[in-house]
Amino acid sequence: MNCVEQIFALFNSRGDTEYFGESVSQKEHALQVAHFGAQAGAAEALIVAALLHDIGHLLACTEDMAENGMNGRHEEAGYVWLREHFGPGVAEPVRMHVDAKRYLCHVDSTYLSGLSPASVLSLQLQGGVFDENEAHRFHDQPYAPDAVRLRLWDDKGKVPNLEVPDLEYYRPMLVRQADCWSSRRD
Ligand code: FE
Repeated sequence: MNCVEQIFALFNSRGDTEYFGESVSQKEHALQVAHFGAQAGAAEALIVAALLHDIGHLLACTEDMAENGMNGRHEEAGYVWLREHFGPGVAEPVRMHVDAKRYLCHVDSTYLSGLSPASVLSLQLQGGVFDENEAHRFHDQPYAPDAVRLRLWDDKGKVPNLEVPDLEYYRPMLVRQADCWSSRRD
C-alpha cells in the first residue's frame, strides 16, 4: 500500500473517532483545517500539512507509533511518519503545530482566551506557555510562519456540520506532494 492509500485507510478506519473533547470527528476536523488553509490561499504543501497535522493520533494505535501516541506527543508521531513520505514543507509544520500554540500564547495575550476548554487543558499537558527564550527558538525555525498559520486553522476547525470538500478532493494534492518528494530523493 502506498502512503496515499495508507492515509485513506487510516481516515476510513479511525477518522470517525471524536476529536478530543470537541464536537467534530478526527476526519471532520482534518477536512476543516485543510479547507481553511485552501481558503487562505496556502501553498499545496501547507494544505496537505493541514489535512495531515493530527495523523499522529490516527497512527497512535499502530506498530511502533504506540509509544509516541500514548505519551501525547502526537505531533512527533505524525512527523516521524510524514518525513518518510513527504518533504519538509509538509512534515515540519506538523512537527511544530503544538509548539505553535505555546508560542502564540506567549506573543498574543488574547490568543489563550480564544482557545476551546479542551485546547487549554492540553496546553498544560504539552508544557504550557513558552517563555521568552523558547519563543525565540521557535520563531527562528524556517517553518515557524507556516506552523503558526496551520495552528490558527487548527483552532478554528471544530465547527459541527460544516460543509467542506471531502477527503477525495485532496487525493491529487497528496499524490503530487508524495511524488515530488520521492522523485527528489531518488
Ligand atoms: Fe488539530
